[in-house]
Amino acid sequence: MKVSGWGGYLWAQTQLLPYEGLIRGRGIVRGLGRSYGDASFYGKGYTWHTRSQQRILKWEEGTLVAEAGLSLYDLIRHILPKGWFPPVVPGTQFVTLGGAFASNIHGKNHHVEGSFADHIDWIELRLPSGELRRLTPAEELFWATAGGMGLTGVIERLQLRLIRIPSSVVHHEVRQLRDWEALLSAIEAEEMHYPYAVAWVDHTDWRSRGILHLGRFAEAGELTFRRAHRLAFPITPPFSLIGRLTVELISAYYWRKYRPGTRLTSYAEFFFPLDGIQRWNSAWGRRGFVQFQFVVEKVVSLERLWRELQAAPARSFLTVLKRLGPQRGPLAFSGPGWTLAIDLPATREVRAFLVRLADLVAEEGGRIYLTKDSLLLPQQARAMYPNWETFRQIKAQVDPEGCLRSDLSERLRLTE
Ligand SMILES: Cc1cc2nc3c(=O)[nH]c(=O)nc-3n(C[C@H](O)[C@H](O)[C@H](O)COP(=O)(O)OP(=O)(O)OC[C@H]3O[C@@H](n4cnc5c(N)ncnc54)[C@H](O)[C@@H]3O)c2cc1C
Repeated sequence: MKVSGWGGYLWAQTQLLPYEGLIRGRGIVRGLGRSYGDASFYGKGYTWHTRSQQRILKWEEGTLVAEAGLSLYDLIRHILPKGWFPPVVPGTQFVTLGGAFASNIHGKNHHVEGSFADHIDWIELRLPSGELRRLTPAEELFWATAGGMGLTGVIERLQLRLIRIPSSVVHHEVRQLRDWEALLSAIEAEEMHYPYAVAWVDHTDWRSRGILHLGRFAEAGELTFRRAHRLAFPITPPFSLIGRLTVELISAYYWRKYRPGTRLTSYAEFFFPLDGIQRWNSAWGRRGFVQFQFVVEKVVSLERLWRELQAAPARSFLTVLKRLGPQRGPLAFSGPGWTLAIDLPATREVRAFLVRLADLVAEEGGRIYLTKDSLLLPQQARAMYPNWETFRQIKAQVDPEGCLRSDLSERLRLTE
C-alpha cells in the first residue's frame, strides 16, 4: 500500500499492517502519519499502525493511562468536559500519544512546561525480543525513546499527567508587529507573562512583519469540546493550488484577521487552527510540500538563517517562530533557543536550496526537527545530533538485529 508523510513529498509502497503486540520482520510503527517526511513508514518492509490501540485504561483526577494509539483529539474529547487538558499539544490534535512521545513534541508552552515526555510517569515499550519493559524517566532508554522516532521499540501504553483548566476558552492577546526587530523584542518581552506564545511571520513582507499570539486559559467559562473537520479537502489535485498569488492573498488575509487586542478564543481555534479543514495538505497537489523546522541557540544565528530564507525560491504563508527551552535525550530536538518552521513547495529548486540551508543550520550549531524532515543528508544529521553515537549504542542493546527501521532512519543512516 502507498503511504506518505504529511508533506506528501516522500512516500513508499509498504506492507501496512495492524500492530498486534509483536515485532516480526523489519519495519516501523506508525501513528496518525502527521510527521512530515519518512519517519512513519518503511518501504522495504512493514509499517505497523496502531489504530486498534486507542483505549483509555485508567483515569484518575489528573492522571491517565492509555494505549499509545489514542489520539489527542479523542483524549481531549474525554477529559476536557471534566476540566482537564493535555500538558503539551502540537499544532494539530490528530497525533497519537505514541507519536507525540516518539517525537517528544513541543507546544506553544515549551518555555514553561517543556516537552511531552516531561509529563510522562512511565511508558511500556515492546522490544524486538518480545520483552515488554516499563520505563520511567530515571532510565536512559526512556530518554532515548523520547525523540527516538520509533527506533527503540513500540510504545504500547503510557501514563500521562494532565493539567487542570478552568474553561475551554483561551484569553488570547494578539500583537501586530510591523517588522522583524519589533517581533523579536515582543516575543522576548511577553512570553514569560503567558504560558502559551507563538508568532507568525509574514514571509511575503520585506520587513518581516508578524503576529504574536499569547494565551492562557480564561479563568471562568464553558467547558465545551469542539468537533474538528467542519470542512474537508475533497481530492488531491495534480497541481498545487498554492502559488505566489495565493500565498500573498492568504498572508494579507491573516494579517487583517488578527487585529491587535484581547479576545476569547476557543481552545480549538487557538491551538489547532488548521484542524478545521480535513486533509488541508492536499492543497499542495501531488508534488507535496516540505516543512523546514530548525532550532538555533543565538538570535544572530536565527537572523542569518532568516535572511537566507527571505531569498528562498518560493514564498510561504505558514512561517512560525517561537522560543524553546531545553530538552533531554540523545536525539532531543529542542533548544534552548529559537525555532522557526516554514512550509514550502517541494520543487527541485526549493529542495536544493533547503539542503544548502541545512549546512548553515549545522554551522550555527543548530538542528533540524527529525519529525518534520524530508531532506537532510546523513552527514548533516550527524553534525546536528552529536549524541547520535549514544543513541546508536542504546539501540544496539535493545534491537541488536536492527529490526526497527524506517525510510528516515535509512536515509539518514541512523540505523547503521
Ligand atoms: C499541522 C501540524 C502541526 C504540527 N505542530 C507541531 C508542533 O507544534 N510541535 C511539534 O513538536 N510537532 C508538531 N507536529 C508534528 C507532530 O506532532 C509529530 O510528527 C508527531 O510525532 C505525529 O504523531 P503521529 O501519531 O501522527 O505519528 P507518526 O507521524 O505516525 O509517527 C511519527 C514518529 O513516531 C513514531 N511512533 C508513532 N507511534 C509510535 C509508538 N506507538 N511507539 C513508538 N514510536 C511511535 C513513528 O515510528 C515515527 O517515527 C505537527 C504536525 C502537523 C501535521
